[in-house]
Amino acid sequence: MRNPIRLSGILLLSVLSIASQAQRVYVIGVKRVADCEFATRPLIADLRELRYPKDWNILVACSSLVWERLQRNGDAFETNTAFTNLQGHITVLNGEIYREMMPLRGTSHRTPRLVLKHELGHIICGCDDEERADRVSEYPERRLRIRQPALKR
Ligand SMILES: [Zn+2]
Repeated sequence: MRNPIRLSGILLLSVLSIASQAQRVYVIGVKRVADCEFATRPLIADLRELRYPKDWNILVACSSLVWERLQRNGDAFETNTAFTNLQGHITVLNGEIYREMMPLRGTSHRTPRLVLKHELGHIICGCDDEERADRVSEYPERRLRIRQPALKR
């Protein structure tokens, strides 16, 4: 993704403190944080077990309209579920995946958790390559983490 997404004007949901980790979760497209709980509740449960890097930002598009806007913003039309901006340390999620029937359609990642693991694969490999991200995301979860910062700042 070339265009970093600006975080201004985005409602802060919570600062998660999970051991040494502290991902920030932002919800977009709702007036109240509670209106996006259909997505954030299961998301936060998964984030407790997946080792996203400290200081990673997770943006949840709480409506399809917002998702489409963020897709345009991130130049990410090839995905219906999520995309990651490695430079900006941002993963954008389509909140709709938490309302859809399983398995998710139009993606090889059948559940929101597998979507999150795939995005974590991108973060760990430090690459945009889909197949590499998938291979990394199949590591056992205890190995699914960044040992050294793969990203240059
Ligand atoms: Zn991908």
